[in-house]
Amino acid sequence: MHNEIEKILVTREEIAKKCAEIGQQLTTEYDGKFPLAIGVLKGAMPFMSDVLRYTETHLEMDFMDVSSYGGAMRSSGEVKIEKDLNTKVEGRDLLIIEDIIDSGLTLSYLVDLFKYRKAKSIRIVTLLDKPSGRTAEIKADIIGFNVPDEFVVGYGLDYQERYRNLPYIGVLKPEIYGGEEA
Ligand code: 5GP
Ligand code: MG
Ligand code: MG
Repeated sequence: MHNEIEKILVTREEIAKKCAEIGQQLTTEYDGKFPLAIGVLKGAMPFMSDVLRYTETHLEMDFMDVSSYGGAMRSSGEVKIEKDLNTKVEGRDLLIIEDIIDSGLTLSYLVDLFKYRKAKSIRIVTLLDKPSGRTAEIKADIIGFNVPDEFVVGYGLDYQERYRNLPYIGVLKPEIYGGEEA
């Protein structure tokens, strides 16, 4: 699998260090509160797991699965709820945890949904940000790393459901994409 990677953009050591930093920041921000941490499946799973290990406040975890991409590498612009929360968000301090923000369509949909459901506060933490891809007006409160406008995989991020288990963020060799345009 590793020989299908052209280059590594963020190493596992850099990710680990960043998760500890962000976890400490969240510990301060949510001191005395009981936030609901919402992981956006499936990509945010490793990041959520690592970052919350360093968040030393009481918190609750839940998951949401939305799709906007299908199998393609570009956002369709349509967001569909595949799995909703099991938890009521009314009156809660929400922390949305994402793997990457590209167009921002997924997150702006979620933020609108949670506002409609009367969340008390909504904060967004994302491991990666691709600011050049933005079409919706959305900004994360905490960003791990900025990445260039390239299709990245690893540490939760997939290409056709593969590569999520890589311990780093990288770019695939062009021949792996089978001619599909990034
Ligand atoms: P957005 O709605 O912001 O355009 O994109 C949201 C979702 O698209 C992300 O949560 C992620 O699942 C997927 N995505 C966006 N850019 C990339 C990328 O470079 N690599 C991978 N694997 N997924 C991406
Ligand atoms: Mg995602
Ligand atoms: Mg995907």
